[in-house]
Amino acid sequence: MAFSLHSYPVVYRAKYGHQAWKEEYIEKPHKTPEEEAALGVPEQNALAASRNAYDDMPLVSYTTQYGLSCFEGLKALPQQDGGLAIFRPDQNAARFRRSMEGLMMPGFPEDSFVTACVETVKRNAALGFRPQYKKEWEQDSFISADSIYIRPFSYAEGGIGVALSQKPWVVVVTTPVSAYFAEGSSDAVITERIRATPKGTGWIKAASNYVISALAKHEANEAGFMECIYLDAVHRKYVEEGSSCNVFFYLKSGELVTPELGDTILPGITRASIIELARDRNIRVTERKIAIEEVFAEGKECFVSGTAAGATPIESLTYQGKKVVFNHGKTGDLTAEIRDTIKGIQYGTLPDTKGWMVKVI
Ligand SMILES: *Cc1c(COP(=O)(O)O)cnc(C)c1O
Repeated sequence: MAFSLHSYPVVYRAKYGHQAWKEEYIEKPHKTPEEEAALGVPEQNALAASRNAYDDMPLVSYTTQYGLSCFEGLKALPQQDGGLAIFRPDQNAARFRRSMEGLMMPGFPEDSFVTACVETVKRNAALGFRPQYKKEWEQDSFISADSIYIRPFSYAEGGIGVALSQKPWVVVVTTPVSAYFAEGSSDAVITERIRATPKGTGWIKAASNYVISALAKHEANEAGFMECIYLDAVHRKYVEEGSSCNVFFYLKSGELVTPELGDTILPGITRASIIELARDRNIRVTERKIAIEEVFAEGKECFVSGTAAGATPIESLTYQGKKVVFNHGKTGDLTAEIRDTIKGIQYGTLPDTKGWMVKVI
């Protein structure tokens, strides 16, 4: 399983109250990574469960009852030089503050966010909990490479009435990850479900948005597809994004299109980075509405983007029983170049000319 919850022992937590955030780092039960690896599966699971248990987290809260929560997802990557570095945490910090404010919670300070991510990774690494860089990853452009997934999230105080969170907590957990999408098929399908509506919370990385995504993704998987793609809620015509990733189409004309941001699309940091990298290569990149008919008629390559997905090629897209196959089912040249460039910057094999990487150790 590529994405599992065997979180590292050190967890960051900040509680809001009296106009201030009270911070702490909690060291949950652990042995050495080697001793833990030698345990039987039941013992490993028991340890993982104890690390995920908090006696003082309210059971009934606006988060557990009404899904009032937002989160972030970012990565710390083992570097070629043996260190660890985080990809653009300042951007996640800014989005997290916007998300919290969008949910009418007190915004979490951006510098505290970056420090919490760096410190949590650093403290776990000091206990030996970190992946080590492997030279062999370079062979497949880091598609199979390991990294640390950092998951900051908000958690509401206890409460039962429908109300806003005034004293949220911010928690940062970390867990090791390998490639997100299983190797093999990367067929996508247009789902009939609606992820986000105008004036809703689609632009916020809100926990509640993921209910629809989990349903739609499950249906897509059951039907044999890897991913589902949403159309807009109003016209049911324009492509918006995937279940947890943004989408790009490289058209026959040489234009790289990604749906323009609005209140129904999540402003991905990978998306923004890809736009910048493609423009540096003199590719014509446009952020605009793109109808599903245009994708069928003009699409040459397609990929989805996100922290977990990186840039993952989409082989085909099915809509109302019709299927378009991109680039004869093979990863396109532009898709591969973008994917490899991002991975190279992230793992330190390409120069970080934009200052995107923040060193942890
Ligand atoms: C997180 C997320 C993305 C990708 O954002 P990144 O910052 O690139 O990881 C795209 N769409 C949705 C719905 C998301 O929640």
